[in-house]
Amino acid sequence: MLNELVVATHNTGKIAEIKNLLVDRIEDLQFAGELGLEEAEENGNSFHENAKIKATAIMQATGKVALADDSGLAVNALNGEPGIYSARWAEDKNGIRNFNLAMEKLWHKIKDEVDKSAYFITVLALAFPDGRVEYIEGRVDGKIIYPPKGTNGFGYDPIFLPHGYSKSFAEMNREEKQKISHRGLALQKFIEKYVCGQ
Ligand code: IMP
Repeated sequence: MLNELVVATHNTGKIAEIKNLLVDRIEDLQFAGELGLEEAEENGNSFHENAKIKATAIMQATGKVALADDSGLAVNALNGEPGIYSARWAEDKNGIRNFNLAMEKLWHKIKDEVDKSAYFITVLALAFPDGRVEYIEGRVDGKIIYPPKGTNGFGYDPIFLPHGYSKSFAEMNREEKQKISHRGLALQKFIEKYVCGQ
């Protein structure tokens, strides 16, 4: 079982979520942002590659086991777009993110499609000091709705309706979303396999 871990994320929302789940379970838990380490550039061609790049950089900088995640929204009628470009889709020409515009743009592309199905996916990469990298995936299926509903969460939450629910991700509170979300599921699997299990 892991007793040391450096988490590669710099996103304050994710840090809070991961801290909450792991702080009582991993003795030596640190976060790259709090250690003043830069986040590696996500220049891979897949969620797996990006997560690996981020985890490996932090493992090499600290010499400790490192965990990184990469996630995004994949729309089936758009062959998986925006996918690894989910954040970049929301950037204007000055690099400022505007998700209202991104949601509108996405809707414009699929409004005439019969198939509005989509899924959120998270890939976690765990990089070990001996060079091994292991992956864990979490996925939640649903469909794109428009206009956006709800004000909680972030990113594309207001236009994502998970299968079997009548509320968008942005209408759920943090606990409700975390139980069924791609990131929540991936973290649950991570805890079962590396923190509590065996
Ligand atoms: P990241 O790799 O987890 O930082 O996610 C990249 C982008 O995917 C984010 O900027 C969001 O646009 C989108 N995304 C990932 N997870 C979620 C989610 O839970 N809700 C809404 N958007 C998300």
